[in-house]
Amino acid sequence: MAAILSYPNPRLHKPAQWVTDIHDKSVQSMIDDMLATLKQHPTAAAFAANQLDYAHPYRITTIHYGRDKHSPLILVNPELSEHTGERTEYEACMSVYPNECGDEVKRFFRVRVKALDREGKPLDFIAEDYLAKCIQHEVDHLEGIVYLQRLTPMRFKRIKQKIDKMQKAMSRKK
Ligand SMILES: [Zn+2]
Repeated sequence: MAAILSYPNPRLHKPAQWVTDIHDKSVQSMIDDMLATLKQHPTAAAFAANQLDYAHPYRITTIHYGRDKHSPLILVNPELSEHTGERTEYEACMSVYPNECGDEVKRFFRVRVKALDREGKPLDFIAEDYLAKCIQHEVDHLEGIVYLQRLTPMRFKRIKQKIDKMQKAMSRKK
């Protein structure tokens, strides 16, 4: 199981690497570890590999949001296209003080998702609503973007002040 990286760790802004050989041991064991990490954090909707403490994270996300608890959705090399509609909704992130921080983020309502499953079989489907939001959040992670960067400047300023305050309080405790 991997530790979750916390904002403002610069590694959150480093894009994950594309998987070139799905059967490589390092890819398969990362997927197993991500699933174990997801199980360990029942409040997490999903994880992107590069928000976890891996030296060389791959472009992989595991999502159990809205899924049967025992079979999370595994997306390898996900790519989004055909974005339509919009929806502004509350979002939070396991890497950004999930119990204290969260805010409204504007996302597309519907996206087409192309990816591979863990056996290398191509997936191609339309995601809507909550699942679409979740996948957009995770693909952002894989590209080095945290949801804070999607906030309006005013909302970002407000949440950044909160984060700074919390970090100051934490360093005082040390
Ligand atoms: Zn997140």
